[in-house]
Amino acid sequence: MRSLTRAEARERSSLVTVMSYAAELDLDRGAEVFGSRGTIHFACASPGADSWVDLRAREIESITLNGVRLDPATVVGGRLPLPGLEEDNELIVVATMAYSHDGQGLHRATDPADGQDYVYGHLFLDAAPSVFVCFDQPDLKAPYDLRVRTPHDWTVIGNGAATRTGPGEWALATTKPLATYFVTVCAGPYVSVRDEHDGIPLGLHARASLRGPLERHAAEMFQITKRSFDYFHGLFAIRYPFGEYHQVFVPEFNAGAMENPGCVTIRDQYLFRGAATRDELLGRANTIAHEMSHMWFGDLVTMRWWDDLWLNESFAEYMSHRCLVAATDYTDAWVDSSIVRKVWGYGAERSPSTHPVAGVDALDAQSALQNFDGISYAKGAAVLRQLIAYVGDGPFITGVRAYLAEHSYGNGTLAEFLGAIEAASGVDLEAWAAGWLLTAGRDTISVDLDEHNGVIGSAVVIRQTPAQHPADRPHAFDVAGYTDGAEGRGPP
Ligand SMILES: [Zn+2]
Repeated sequence: MRSLTRAEARERSSLVTVMSYAAELDLDRGAEVFGSRGTIHFACASPGADSWVDLRAREIESITLNGVRLDPATVVGGRLPLPGLEEDNELIVVATMAYSHDGQGLHRATDPADGQDYVYGHLFLDAAPSVFVCFDQPDLKAPYDLRVRTPHDWTVIGNGAATRTGPGEWALATTKPLATYFVTVCAGPYVSVRDEHDGIPLGLHARASLRGPLERHAAEMFQITKRSFDYFHGLFAIRYPFGEYHQVFVPEFNAGAMENPGCVTIRDQYLFRGAATRDELLGRANTIAHEMSHMWFGDLVTMRWWDDLWLNESFAEYMSHRCLVAATDYTDAWVDSSIVRKVWGYGAERSPSTHPVAGVDALDAQSALQNFDGISYAKGAAVLRQLIAYVGDGPFITGVRAYLAEHSYGNGTLAEFLGAIEAASGVDLEAWAAGWLLTAGRDTISVDLDEHNGVIGSAVVIRQTPAQHPADRPHAFDVAGYTDGAEGRGPP
């Protein structure tokens, strides 16, 4: 299966505009496969041109483009050629898809506690075509209409509010424009705890055998959720745009959590069965705030291409800690950032595979994950803190708000993000970005005290930059001092 290249994505998004997606998923066909009927309405900027759509089916029953049947045998390597496009097009694909068991695509798991099956979608980074036919790239967004058929005792949760329309039949509300990798459906005999905050319906869900831990932890998780909503509403000055907000604790999850708009999936190890340490609770609260910050930065405004994935994660890593300190009882979250998260970044920085935070080409979608490590999350977040120290918090937030407002329901790039910060602060960031984002390595900062007879004459900050990664990084920081108890005396 060939990974989509950046050049192919650029060419396709210049040609294709997706108007809407509709998908009917039949999850009542046993444990191996599900039915998928996908309809795409899309425009073509150059009628007569050819393109292709992504499709990874077990079996294809039929393909219809603008009323004309296409031969399923033309699908090669997960790509269905679309010959001779019109200005407005309708593609309908009826197919049988396979459930996954590696956490990518529509994952199906059996709970060993009671033998019940659970399904959830995890389409990051390029698994969407294994669930429905689509133009699978982050800058071709469109609204989704999903209908789901399930066994009668199942519950369905997804990006749009789910309504049971009949026995085992569910309709999900039309979503705002979403990137393909944000679409999810969670289905199974999930148990739920519901609440509401500031007009936003809230849900927490888990498999039935975890009902006890779910109910025990619900109050704490709802409190973090509500405070985070209040905080981000104030900070970003844009109301949460995706309707209901569900957090689904799913089994066999291959990551920490995923920021699907309106339906965050979280590994169910976070529903601690026994006593949990404060550190574990902080980690979960951090994940809740991290995923929520993505609703704005990531979901409402999405990277144009995968080479900006680091910015998505650095931003969320930074914002989650900021939110915990400002709005929750975890006021020491920056300590966690410094002694747990940043160590991860330092470790990656010291290894031979170190790389700049940004500017590493992701020539195809899969290669975006090769450099995805502690530098992408922890160092990136630390660099954003340095940026804030450099331009000031007020201008930084003004720039973030402008960036989010300008690119809502669309896409943005690192250059556009930095441009918004430059416009808000009046600070030229070209040299800053070259030193901090485009050069690997870290400076060593030390303070040299000029001390005579117990009196500090002056303090000189010394900066050493690694020879193998030369950079001229501007630093903005405070220097504080302390003594061993004796009265300290600074320079007159
Ligand atoms: Zn994230």
